[in-house]
Amino acid sequence: MEHLSSLIRDVPDFPEPGIVFKDITPVLADGGAFADLVDGLAEPYRDQGISKVAGIEARGFTLATPVAERLGAGFIPVRKPGKLPYETVREDYELEYGTDALEIHRDAVTEGERILVVDDVIATGGTAAAAVRLLRELGADVAGFSVFIELAFLNGARLLDGVPLHALIRYD
Ligand code: AMP
Repeated sequence: MEHLSSLIRDVPDFPEPGIVFKDITPVLADGGAFADLVDGLAEPYRDQGISKVAGIEARGFTLATPVAERLGAGFIPVRKPGKLPYETVREDYELEYGTDALEIHRDAVTEGERILVVDDVIATGGTAAAAVRLLRELGADVAGFSVFIELAFLNGARLLDGVPLHALIRYD
């Protein structure tokens, strides 16, 4: 984990003044580190009956797809508005820097399906909470939220409404 942590690049004032952006591209660019990251995100959910892994656009896709493959599960994209071609459901949410919305295909999950959500960073928790609401609206049993980095000082986990958070690295 120290190796992964040392590869995270802090970019001050991106995308706005006052935000310290956690750039994970150096982790993704290192084959061994990338494999360790994917293993760490998937590990607690082996043998947990996860049938699909939902990834949040865009960095979440990079992590959720290999996690899904490791778990023998399918992958569902959770996307920014207007990107998905079929019928969608939508949730608006507040971001650490602005507001946004997420959409998911209406037929992405079936009633009672156990879903794991994966993203790179949880900050204020608004994005994660919107993804959980979307999946629950479709009848999913959201088994967990697996994330590389938790900015714990922003207390995003409190918005997860009972969904357990698994974070590989926490900044207090
Ligand atoms: P939030 O809704 O505030 O929890 O923001 C989480 C989403 O925004 C994630 O999809 C992250 O990719 C991105 N994000 C928010 N803050 C940061 C940050 N400081 N560094 C990198 N990504 C961030």
